[in-house]
Amino acid sequence: MMKQLILLGAPGSGKGTQAAKIVEDFGYKHVSTGDLLRKEIASGSELGKRVKAIMDSGNLVDDVTVLELLKNNCNVHKNAYIFDGYPRNIDQAKELESKILKGVSQQVIYFDVDLEKLVERIVNRRSCKSCGEIYNVINNPSRIVDVCDRCGGQLLQRDDDKKSVVKNRIEVFKNTIFPVRDYYNRAGVLKIVDAGKGVAEIFTEISDLLK
Ligand code: ADP
Ligand code: AMP
Repeated sequence: MMKQLILLGAPGSGKGTQAAKIVEDFGYKHVSTGDLLRKEIASGSELGKRVKAIMDSGNLVDDVTVLELLKNNCNVHKNAYIFDGYPRNIDQAKELESKILKGVSQQVIYFDVDLEKLVERIVNRRSCKSCGEIYNVINNPSRIVDVCDRCGGQLLQRDDDKKSVVKNRIEVFKNTIFPVRDYYNRAGVLKIVDAGKGVAEIFTEISDLLK
């Protein structure tokens, strides 16, 4: 049985990019709490309406809402998941263990990157509206501007990927993640990758870890 995989890292550190490659090569399922929340917003649900302003400001949605959404979208007894964007704080890390993972084996990868580099990466991110493929207008552009190479869908910039919001998202990250990293370090399941490297190099490192 494959281990459940938890990707920790700042916004823009490359978790989603690597998750897509891991899914393709290793057959994991990808569950991103950010994607689940954005789907709620797109669907116009009550939950989506409630979280939109919080997400647009770059703050975290409350723990109860996010845990409920995650619980409804994964079954660790059936599949091996990549948890992307969860946990974000120590309470979420403890709840992931007590309410979802409950002792199943897990591997945590922390994407370590100079936070100064992230604004540049994030403001240039574009994602496909249809298939979710991630691009970067500077270092990984689509062949045709704003059109997905993979499915022909429209590429969009996320509302929270604007410079003013990105700065707050990075601050929030700095204020919440270190106890989470310590928690997994103490549990002996933490691996740190240098996420300032290129996409292919990082993937090779992760692949070696998963084999
Ligand atoms: P996260 O899921 O951690 O928020 P993404 O995977 O969406 O991050 O990546 C954020 C942006 O940075 C995207 O535009 C992506 O193309 C780009 N990117 C991802 N990995 C790297 C990398 N190793 N080097 C440079 N740019 C990257
Ligand atoms: P992400 O797609 O991971 O960059 O997340 C985008 C936004 O969704 C964050 O800035 C938060 O507002 C919200 N979000 C995603 N995951 C969580 C989480 N685990 N806890 C609280 N809020 C979250």
